[in-house]
Formats: sequence, structure tokens, C-alpha cells
Amino acid sequence: MSGMRPTGRLHIGHLVGALTNWVEIMHRADAYFEIADLHAYTTSFENPQSIRDARDELVLDWLAAGIDPERCTIFLQSALQEIPELHTLLSMIVPVAWLQRVPTYKDQIEALGAEIATYGFLGYPLLQLCDIAVFRGERVPVGKDQLSHLEFGREVVRRFNFLYGATLVEPEAVLSEFPAVLGTDGRKMSKSYGNTIDLADDEATTTKKIRAMITDPLKVRKNDPGRPEVCAVFGLHQLANRARVPWIDENCRSGALGCVACKGELAETLNAWLAPIRARRASFDRTKVDAIIAAGTEKARVVARETLRDVRRAMKLVP
Ligand code: SF4
Repeated sequence: MSGMRPTGRLHIGHLVGALTNWVEIMHRADAYFEIADLHAYTTSFENPQSIRDARDELVLDWLAAGIDPERCTIFLQSALQEIPELHTLLSMIVPVAWLQRVPTYKDQIEALGAEIATYGFLGYPLLQLCDIAVFRGERVPVGKDQLSHLEFGREVVRRFNFLYGATLVEPEAVLSEFPAVLGTDGRKMSKSYGNTIDLADDEATTTKKIRAMITDPLKVRKNDPGRPEVCAVFGLHQLANRARVPWIDENCRSGALGCVACKGELAETLNAWLAPIRARRASFDRTKVDAIIAAGTEKARVVARETLRDVRRAMKLVP
């Protein structure tokens, strides 16, 4: 089980960091992929339309990257009432201090401002656990930064099972570490930095973004020797043009390679790499996205209902 918040276009960092992994998981497990729209409200509650608009684009990006709705379950978090219900029930047994000590809580408030410090934002890791627990998810692909959330979730499951009997499954983290993809400005690729190359970008936009990239500031003229290790263009070559990296490294350092040619090669390589993804994205019938989400959500509901029935029984909420 894994998910993404519909908060904007996906970029090549998502492709390398999560989607490639999802495609692989989809072929060997009963995989659930969640459009985490409730989670999006924790930081974008003032822009409901942007969350709604991003939903279809998110699914189109998934499909373009190779996620096959026939082989997995794509569902909408807010359409499964069982998730917020489980959240309410579990919130009765979770000490507030457990949530306050999750490291990302303070970090995010410092980064995004006190106005996001809502009741819902504090409960974000609990809602994440409910996304998993409602399907009795056993294995969750996570990056290192999400490990504390999963550990918190495991603690909550243990507490529930101790209080009411073995009902929920303790999810296990499957650590998925990928090299951080650098953006066009050399910082981590992120929508908030405006330095992304999006899956939905066309060739001309990608080329334009690459042409505008800043390279080694000491390489002023074409034949000046350069330092690939400080150059974001080189970082992207390492991602998408691995076979040519030793040659680029050598010829940049010697001054034989100029930045214009180097960027031209990168644009060509990236566009060739993304071409099949973009072609798939363009060929999908957008009107089918709602049906894909609806079918996946109904399939997910069957499992979620069973879990909630057991949880209610365990908590003596049914006769
Ligand atoms: S030649 Fe390429 S790697 Fe070297 S500084 Fe220019 S863009 Fe960067």
C-alpha cells in the first residue's frame, strides 16, 4: 500500500523515487495505490479546487508511468468512509504526546508556518496508519523520512491489539532509498522550489528548462575547464545518461566540452527517456479516469468494510 497527495504535477523525481518502484510492486503483490486527497487538505485546505483539479492529473501521471489499473487498486481516500471512521476510533486510544513527538511535526510547522498546525495536521501520521490498517497492509514502501510515521503506526496497532484483541496488522516498512534527484537549480527537485522537469512537460518545455540551467560559474567560456561536481546539468546526466557520464566528466574538466553542447545532449536524452511516458499520457482517454477511480474505490471498499466490521466488534460497538 502506498499513496500520493494530489497537490501538483509529478516530476522525474517522483518517477525515479516512487513510481518505478510501484510498477515493480504491482507485478508481484496485491497493491493498493491511494489518491491521498484528505492528506492534501492538511496543507492546502484553503484551495479545495486545486486538490480536485490535481486528482485527475495525478492518476494520468501514474498511468503514464506504467501503473496498470487492471493489476492494482487505485482508490480515492476521501471516498472510503471507513478510513476517517477508523481514524476517529483509533484517535480514542492515541496519546497526544505520541503525535507531538513525531519528528516531522515540528519540522513541517517550522518550514510551512504555524497556520498549518491544525488538529488534522497533528493527526496526519494517524490518518496515514488508517490508510494502511484499513487494508491490513503488511508491507509499506517508505523512504527514510517516513520511517518515524510507520513506527508510530506500529505502536498504535500494538496498543489497539493489546486493548481489544488481535485485530489489526502491524505494517512493516520496506525501505526504498533512491538517490535524491536534483532539480534544475541544483537543489533537491521539488515543486516548491520551482525546479522540476514534469512528466507532463512537452519536449520544448524540457529543452527550455535545461537551456536555462546554471552550470559551473567558473566555466565562463566554452573551453574553460569545468567542475562537473558543482553542476546541476551533470547531476541530471548521472540520472538519465549514465553511459556517457565518464566521457562528459573528462571532457568538461579538460575544457573540450562546452556547456551549450552538454545541455543539448541532456535535453535530447531526457526527451528520449520521457517520450514513451508522454506518449502514454497523451493517448489516455481522460474521461476514463473517473471510472478507474470509482472501480478501484469500490474494490477497496470491500476489504475496508471487513476491517471496520472487525474493529467495531473488537471495540464492542456492535451488539
Ligand atoms: S560542460 Fe556540462 S557538466 Fe561541465 S559545467 Fe558545462 S554543463 Fe556542467
